[in-house]
Amino acid sequence: MVTDNWKSRTRRVIEIVAIILFVVIGVTIILQTTAPSPPQGVPPKEKLTEARYYQKLGDGMVQCQLCFRKCTIQEGARGVCENRINIGGTLYSLVYANPCAIQIDPVEKEPLFHLLPGDTTLCFGTASCNQKCLFCHNWHMSQRTVEETDNIALSPEEAVTMAAEVGCNSISFTYNEPTVFYEYMYDIAKLAKEMGLVTYFHSNGTINPEPLRALLPYMDAACIDLKAFTEEFYLNVSSSELEPVLRTLKIIKEEGVWLEVVNLLIPTLNDDMDKLREMCIWIRDNLGEDTPLHFSRFFPAYKLLKLPPTPLETLDKAREIAQEVGLKYVYIGNAPGHIANSTFCPQCGELIIKRVGFIVQQYLLKEGRCAYCGYPIPGIWD
Ligand code: SF4
Repeated sequence: MVTDNWKSRTRRVIEIVAIILFVVIGVTIILQTTAPSPPQGVPPKEKLTEARYYQKLGDGMVQCQLCFRKCTIQEGARGVCENRINIGGTLYSLVYANPCAIQIDPVEKEPLFHLLPGDTTLCFGTASCNQKCLFCHNWHMSQRTVEETDNIALSPEEAVTMAAEVGCNSISFTYNEPTVFYEYMYDIAKLAKEMGLVTYFHSNGTINPEPLRALLPYMDAACIDLKAFTEEFYLNVSSSELEPVLRTLKIIKEEGVWLEVVNLLIPTLNDDMDKLREMCIWIRDNLGEDTPLHFSRFFPAYKLLKLPPTPLETLDKAREIAQEVGLKYVYIGNAPGHIANSTFCPQCGELIIKRVGFIVQQYLLKEGRCAYCGYPIPGIWD
């Protein structure tokens, strides 16, 4: 009993230290990145880039077609995301070449566990989002307007050059919802592909089909949040909708882009095991049993400060259900040191990629196959 208590206390201390370190290091890198150039809010009008995917409705009105909201925007106004403004009947992006976060992260932090294990990536994010999730961990960017963040001018060419200079093989669009900086993401990704870099994005999945299909040829992978499996949760907790997310997941799969799914399990809000089973069955039937699913541990953040962290037992139970349903790669995240940080071969059961949190400690794949039994493990390994 004493030993169990001691082990559990030690594990908790390790978790807390790991989380504090990631937050401190992350914030430090963001601040260092933005420090050299004087921060800017909105670029001058002559430097704004016209938005893509919108319609002119007449009388100076426009309708944005980029995400599920399809905002109708009057002259001088902005869409719900606050990143697209109607000036004189033309829609402009306020965040093109205007990021507020540039950071080097491990690929595992995305989380993407079947893509370049142990590698680092250059990540970009801007102000704002098209959702208002009560639990957002990046609210200091995603729930602020472009005037409220410290931004730097960085063209797509400079962004790609920066990745090469800092020795990253990949570029990621993350932190806030990349749909709300679509034009910037698209142009960087296109250039990055020409330079032979790997590209991916982490999204809430509410982009509309046309811009998504146009983007995917320039993306190697996507990490999509499936925040819950009920419309109620999406409406009440994320001010959003579930259906567009399911549509996005299917399109990414259809287009052959590598896909991993993340579900943040929040106590009392989306931890009903019957619903989780339904979600796992949907993933199996629509995306395939090989699609990695990450159950992520919730910690109190933003407007959900009164809820406790997700109990590890809840995450274990969710993983058990996903495996019962037939999903082959089910992970537990935000719980450094948990056995489900690692990858096991679905055929022989051997540990083939050992991770502690985001750190890869052992890699036992040979040409994309289990080193023990030769079973092919799907992903992008080289
Ligand atoms: S991208 Fe922004 S402006 Fe466009 S529909 Fe979505 S929330 Fe509205």
